[in-house]
Amino acid sequence: MQRIAVFPGSFDPITRGHESVIRRALSLFDHVIVAIGENSEKKSFFHLEQRLTWLHAIFTNEPKIEIVTFSGLTVDFCQKKNAAYILRGLRTAADFEFERGIGQMNKLMVPGIETVFLLCEPEYASLSSSIVRDIIRNGGDVRQFVPEAVVIKNEYRISNIEY
Ligand code: ADP
Repeated sequence: MQRIAVFPGSFDPITRGHESVIRRALSLFDHVIVAIGENSEKKSFFHLEQRLTWLHAIFTNEPKIEIVTFSGLTVDFCQKKNAAYILRGLRTAADFEFERGIGQMNKLMVPGIETVFLLCEPEYASLSSSIVRDIIRNGGDVRQFVPEAVVIKNEYRISNIEY
């Protein structure tokens, strides 16, 4: 049986924190599916196409990594992909509380799927996509926070309106 994990998120944009969790998971799983959730409730900052392009560029030489988009429940998507694991990163106690709720609800819905948490590397504990977006909005340089393949251009943004 192949060990397949789904790493769901918005990756708006992907940060070095996400990248590190994904790469570290390669020693635990045979196949890691990085899945961009298309959440209709949540407006994104960068176009979906752009987020996909970045993920493909970052993991282009990793045959064990698949990049996809999905909508609907993560557990339904996992079943469709035969994935028995959901991968998540933990930075803080706040992350833990948030993830505990989702993880335990997912467990009640589909008991066969386990959520696996990786503690983030200490240098990424304060790094979040939302802070990266704030820095971009205000014209700052985010190169040290995002993978090298992530080159930020204004036209990649959905709009300049703040939300
Ligand atoms: P959301 O679920 O809000 O879309 P993200 O797409 O930002 O969240 O994150 C997806 C996953 O990546 C979550 O498990 C989150 O905890 C994790 N993550 C986010 N930032 C980091 C980081 N700096 N280091 C490790 N894991 C992270």
